[in-house]
Amino acid sequence: MIIMKKDATPEQIQHVIDEVARAGLRTDVSRGQHLTVLGLVGDERRVDFAHLAALPGVKEARMIEAPYKLINREYSSAYGETSTHIIKIGPVEIGGEEPLFIAGPCAVESREALFRIAEQVKAAGAHVLRGGVFKPRSSVHSFQGLGSAGNDEAVEALTWLKEAGEAFGMPVVTEVRGEAQVELVSQFVDIIQIGSRNMYDQDLLQAAARKNLPVMFKRHFGASVEEFLCFAEYIAAEGNKDIILCERGIVPVGKGKNFTRYLLDLAAVPVVQKETFLPIIVDPSHATGRRDLIRSMSLASIAAGASGLMIEVHDRPEEALVDASQMISPAELKEIITVARQLRQIAVK
Ligand code: PEP
Ligand code: MN
Repeated sequence: MIIMKKDATPEQIQHVIDEVARAGLRTDVSRGQHLTVLGLVGDERRVDFAHLAALPGVKEARMIEAPYKLINREYSSAYGETSTHIIKIGPVEIGGEEPLFIAGPCAVESREALFRIAEQVKAAGAHVLRGGVFKPRSSVHSFQGLGSAGNDEAVEALTWLKEAGEAFGMPVVTEVRGEAQVELVSQFVDIIQIGSRNMYDQDLLQAAARKNLPVMFKRHFGASVEEFLCFAEYIAAEGNKDIILCERGIVPVGKGKNFTRYLLDLAAVPVVQKETFLPIIVDPSHATGRRDLIRSMSLASIAAGASGLMIEVHDRPEEALVDASQMISPAELKEIITVARQLRQIAVK
């Protein structure tokens, strides 16, 4: 990273960018209130930091040791930003003091069901409506989401999602399962979701990032925190720093029963907050797979400092087409949100 002097001129900044480009790297320009800092995208070993440090207008030039540099706290604090990056999503925001609640069904099932659920999660206090149109499923014989039936069906389901969000004043989020869906989905949603299974898909990450919409980025169930952040960096490297990280559980250990679908890694929440300036939320639904554990794990996540929660909710939980066992009712959501808000006030101290 290259920290420019307070009085560095635009020409001096451009000269540094050109010098970096000569070494074959791209530059990420971050302007703080007083300072401009340049992040490097590419192999930093090709850069002569001593040469850059000697250029006019440069205060300091040094390497960030971690492999994720553009989302690193060290980078944001260099341009004077000490708090978490706040992402604005229409009328709501995430990363500030108020926790963000994303709720809705696992899958968009029908227009009627979606509108019923949207109305009730909104009344329960949710800010953002979720609903899968393209579902990642373990079996090809399971319901794949309405969008998988064809383009017309995908447009129809995405339209319902958008309309339900508009009807009840909530931005909407849905998952893109592959690059081919990015263009279409981005026309209907406020946040693009990258699911756990696709965390490693660089091409998908870059395609989604380029839509300049906030990206909700879920940790792969087999990924370390470092890998998770390394791949979030692919989104940031496209110039999109509106990344909502999401912890959703990792693969369980041992031979016997673990009693939960995945193992919720709550320590990842404060660790990620120390490492990066990006907000992190928790998805207790996919982490546990059990409706009777959603309340406790939601509150534990808020206590750990999460900036929000994503919870699967259905007005007829047992009848949900996908993930029925982890679905909670709007009434249960309301109670969780009420307590989580109170807890947040203590947790953010
Ligand atoms: C989801 O949120 O709809 C989902 C499929 O979750 P994950 O990618 O974490 O499995
Ligand atoms: Mn689900």
